[in-house]
Amino acid sequence: MDDHKNKKLPPELVKVYEKILAGTWSLKGFFDLIDYKIVHDGKRKTFRYILRLSGRDNIDSSNLETMSLAHTRLIPSEIKKDVWKRDRGRCVICGETQNLHFDHDLPFSKGGTSMSARNVRLLCMKHNLQKSDKIE
Ligand SMILES: [Zn+2]
Repeated sequence: MDDHKNKKLPPELVKVYEKILAGTWSLKGFFDLIDYKIVHDGKRKTFRYILRLSGRDNIDSSNLETMSLAHTRLIPSEIKKDVWKRDRGRCVICGETQNLHFDHDLPFSKGGTSMSARNVRLLCMKHNLQKSDKIE
């Protein structure tokens, strides 16, 4: 038997989330949990995890929302944060603070990019729907 070969297990794959707003978490990506150390600071023990952005490309991508950002209409969380701050969490047209959507100023289908805060704004549901009815 070659049991000794199985001693080196592949690193555990962990999902890392980043907090973008209170109560709102965005998946940042998959990381390999390579190692951990137990650090004693004199009062208590804490675990320090060592993570590495996973280079595996055979991950089930069905829920990997950060994949290929440039080719999707997903808005990176950094941009969302900027837009939210700039628009003060309100619809830019009427000031509504409920049911807000991140809207691409230039439609994605016309080459609008989600990679820049300049092309993204906050719209309430009503104005978001009105906009998509209109042919620009
Ligand atoms: Zn509105």
